[in-house]
Amino acid sequence: MLNNQGRPTQPEKASASYRTFTGNRGLQMEEALIFETGRLDVTGVDCEVPAAFTARLGGLERRAALDLPGLSEPEAMRHYVRLSQKNYSIDAGLYPLGSCTMKHNPRLNEKMARLPGFADIHPLQPVATVQGALALLAQLGHWLTTMTGMAAVSLVPKAGAHGELCGMMAIKTAIAARGEAATRRVVLVPDSAHGTNPATAALIGFEVRAVPARADGTVDPAAVAALMGPEVAAIMLTNPNTCGIFERDIVAIAEIIHEGGGYFYCDGANFNAIVGKTRTGDLGVDAMHINLHKTFSTPHGGGGPGSGPVVLSARLAAFAPVPFVRASEAGLELVEHVTGQSFGRMSAFHGQMGMFVRALAYMMSHGADGLRQASEDAVLNANYVRVCLNDIMSSPFGARPCMHEALFDDEWLKGTGITTLDFAKAMIDEGYHPMTMYFPLVVHGAMLIEPTESESLASLDLFIMTLRDLAFSAQRGETERFTGAPHLAPRRRLDETRAARAPKLRWTPPLPAAAAE
Ligand SMILES: *Cc1c(COP(=O)(O)O)cnc(C)c1O
Repeated sequence: MLNNQGRPTQPEKASASYRTFTGNRGLQMEEALIFETGRLDVTGVDCEVPAAFTARLGGLERRAALDLPGLSEPEAMRHYVRLSQKNYSIDAGLYPLGSCTMKHNPRLNEKMARLPGFADIHPLQPVATVQGALALLAQLGHWLTTMTGMAAVSLVPKAGAHGELCGMMAIKTAIAARGEAATRRVVLVPDSAHGTNPATAALIGFEVRAVPARADGTVDPAAVAALMGPEVAAIMLTNPNTCGIFERDIVAIAEIIHEGGGYFYCDGANFNAIVGKTRTGDLGVDAMHINLHKTFSTPHGGGGPGSGPVVLSARLAAFAPVPFVRASEAGLELVEHVTGQSFGRMSAFHGQMGMFVRALAYMMSHGADGLRQASEDAVLNANYVRVCLNDIMSSPFGARPCMHEALFDDEWLKGTGITTLDFAKAMIDEGYHPMTMYFPLVVHGAMLIEPTESESLASLDLFIMTLRDLAFSAQRGETERFTGAPHLAPRRRLDETRAARAPKLRWTPPLPAAAAE
């Protein structure tokens, strides 16, 4: 088969028995690597041949050809546009990826983030010339501390996991300041936690000890009490947890940790379910990251940069990293130098400006009441999905209300020969990005669905009817619809393990026919 440039396309096509000459499927273009389609004799720009000159590069000028793939301007344009169309996105359809809060990103956010006063400034500009940007940081910080009822905030971390690192470094520094660095070396992490939690604790030298979950998917204060001791520095607890359930004993757990001399780190990635309903500070939390790129719109994952500010309790505020914004006589200043108990600096500059603008635009356009309603609608939508599917799909913790995500297991697929993975692949044929699969790890064959508040009733109904159709089909024994899926995608089952373990990161030109023989 040939692609548009008359070159052979790659193997492993979509399954349809119907084959096309070009490899394209309808208006879905097959797109080869730019190195395969580019030709050295083609260029997208017309440059005049320079007049004779003497190089002044001290003999360092290039001698060999550059070998860049050449394309005309329209070919280059099509290449990148076609690649962009291969990406599923929240702008294209419902994106039910649990634990990621893939909500609509209002275009107003984008418009604000592109204002030159925010987009075109430089981090090394004199602070007197960026007072507006600093005021935005201060205001965003004010919203975050107000929403969470916490004493301080650091806007430095660039993602959720980076926020965990920031909060845990503040905790580690606070423990060292008490002279307990050598003895308090253990961090408790429930076994349902996101993998970044134990990874963060381990990265900065703590020993991780797992807290088992109760039968209903929550953490039992008695289990925490049994593990608490003078060697425990902190607990890292997610709330609502990764099973989509509010940790109802969170205050009791905080008390146990505090009485034992430890700190309470809360993973706030699921904050979307409780904004305006519950204040983190009232629960006894000492540090919590907030994924601006989940809770306050802009998609999580490959959709752009993230931002993971950390809010801190009064006990930890003094240990926050630099830089941070402070009001002074002369206006707002950016405190760059480590003073007092600050644990230092995590990155060169002050976080993700574009994300700060988007998050504040989202907050201000919603208002306090609107943010609370967004959380209520997110929880309502998840429960609607749960109730509309729980007669046919099984839930690990019984048919009880969830927060912003509906969790199913694979018990209902038993005996069908169909796995969670097969079911997810069949969703692709129906035009849906799959839900989160096999996470949380504590649930067998987990399917974690997070519709978010963005979806209308009509959109949810179509999604639910699609899943019901698939579920009935699975139970009727129409196995091939699943085990062969995706039937209609440009690529089918990829060897994901090999892609992760032995990634091919460099393109090498194919051997000439003669050499290959
Ligand atoms: C998304 C998420 C994280 C990590 O956030 P990143 O921004 O991806 O680094 C941590 N914990 C939980 C529960 C999450 O859902």
